[in-house]
Amino acid sequence: MTQKDAVRKNKPVIHCDALVVHCMDYRLQKFLQPWITIRFGYDNFDIISLAGGVHDYEMVLKYVELAVRIHSIETVCLINHEDCRAYGRDGTYKRHRHDLLDASSKIHALFP
Ligand SMILES: [Zn+2]
Repeated sequence: MTQKDAVRKNKPVIHCDALVVHCMDYRLQKFLQPWITIRFGYDNFDIISLAGGVHDYEMVLKYVELAVRIHSIETVCLINHEDCRAYGRDGTYKRHRHDLLDASSKIHALFP
């Protein structure tokens, strides 16, 4: 819905630019929060914390669909990290890279 359409229907436009998906790990927060705020703006993003970031793609997809529908986001920022306990021994650079690229390409295909 465009802003004109919303005005015509007397519905407020509720929009933010991005959805940020990152791991719930407390060790990340002091680094991520300032960066996210600078990158997207103080009140311009939805954010979810999931164990392993994109480790559970289906869960990520649910939030992407929701954020697109209710806030018409235009950007999805996917963040994984090293030493992620959700991945455990499988958390190699190669695996994180694969999962991030796979999630990104699937989201792009679903929301061009
Ligand atoms: Zn983690």
